[in-house]
Amino acid sequence: MAEQENQEIGHKELAHKTLLQSDALYQYILETSVFPREHECMKELRQMSEKHPWGLMATPPDEGQLINMLVKLINAKKTMEIGVYTGYSLLSTALALPHDGKENNKGAFDFVFVDADKDNYLNYHKRVIELVRVGGLIGYDNTLWSGAVARPPDAPMLDYVKQFRSYVIEVNKYLAHDSRIEICQIPVGDGITLCRRII
Ligand code: CA
Repeated sequence: MAEQENQEIGHKELAHKTLLQSDALYQYILETSVFPREHECMKELRQMSEKHPWGLMATPPDEGQLINMLVKLINAKKTMEIGVYTGYSLLSTALALPHDGKENNKGAFDFVFVDADKDNYLNYHKRVIELVRVGGLIGYDNTLWSGAVARPPDAPMLDYVKQFRSYVIEVNKYLAHDSRIEICQIPVGDGITLCRRII
């Protein structure tokens, strides 16, 4: 009985800590805090991406806003994006850069955003951790994988979700135990895991 009560309390606490309880709440965030501040060229790109048949793959605008602020907070000058769809998040990064910021693949990077083939995330991590400076930030996109990471492997899910689910689970475990970084997994968009290199 006591155990059952504990479980119920646990669920309640979880529910209180999980903000996005409805689509309406997400729409509220977009309309209140994201769209009014969205740069005109990002708005155009977003509307183009929405019409594209693979529009689901574009970075959501609230996630773009988060990336934009992170880039400014760490005063990032050298950034790289691995895996570019229509470039919404790339543009989001570029708009947050000071004018002396550069986009290239050499040297020590302040910020790297990885949004590419999920079965290669571990390989990217092994490279990227060397490219980013100590104190720099890596963002891995889609680390909640439509919620499939918390579903049983035989649960009904789309083919591509099922196909890459185990890779995302594997990289999440790896990042959680990598002593070279501090991490924070944020449930924005499809989940983004921020890794700050510490050694
Ligand atoms: Ca993505």
